[in-house]
Amino acid sequence: SVSPVIFRSMMRLAGEQIIAERDWLSELDGVIGDGDHGVTMEIGWKAVMAALGAAPETETIEASCKRMAKAFLDAVGASSGPLYATAFLRAGAAVSDRQNLDAYALAAWLAAAMQGIRDRGRAEPGDKTMVDAWAPAVEAATAAAGGHDELAVMSAARDGAETGMKATADLESRRGRSAKLGARSRGHIDPGAASTFLMLRGMAEALA
Ligand code: ADP
Ligand code: MG
Ligand code: MG
Repeated sequence: SVSPVIFRSMMRLAGEQIIAERDWLSELDGVIGDGDHGVTMEIGWKAVMAALGAAPETETIEASCKRMAKAFLDAVGASSGPLYATAFLRAGAAVSDRQNLDAYALAAWLAAAMQGIRDRGRAEPGDKTMVDAWAPAVEAATAAAGGHDELAVMSAARDGAETGMKATADLESRRGRSAKLGARSRGHIDPGAASTFLMLRGMAEALA
């Protein structure tokens, strides 16, 4: 199962992978947004990684999630700031009774993260946002949880997010900055869906 120490290493790898793809994320956002998503994510995840570096070894997963949410919110001004921060906060709260995360708790962590984003941003699946990567990720992770294998849960989440991310290219934006492009947003991947995929891929890789 995922201990607090392993959980924090998952978040570190998520941050590293997002930061490594900063230019790609900003390129995607340059096409249908204002071009800052890579920089936004780099700033936010650097803050998260610094905050986690200061966490005591014995800190619970819930407390680390609170720490991450605060760091991200304080560091990021863009619309993705409160969305990611709410995801961390709600995900942590969903596992507040756990010391370690088994496969079901890991799937519950992911589901609560998505629900936090949906409650905060009011986007529905199909609106061409990060929700379109989270929704298939959570569905696949939940389906995989019965196998009692945390790596299998995260691998399913990663693959679901990748499929969802790619499918955002077929969608017309109805939320966020890209909504004003209307039909012209078609043909392009949503940057927030891309950062979601990278985050989940990093989390999975930390367990491999
Ligand atoms: P900004 O648009 O303020 O520059 P970012 O570029 O960091 O912020 O993030 C843009 C991403 O945020 C979009 O690609 C989309 O995935 C996500 N996003 C924007 N608004 C919403 C919303 N209401 N619900 C969910 N996700 C959203
Ligand atoms: Mg932007
Ligand atoms: Mg911006």
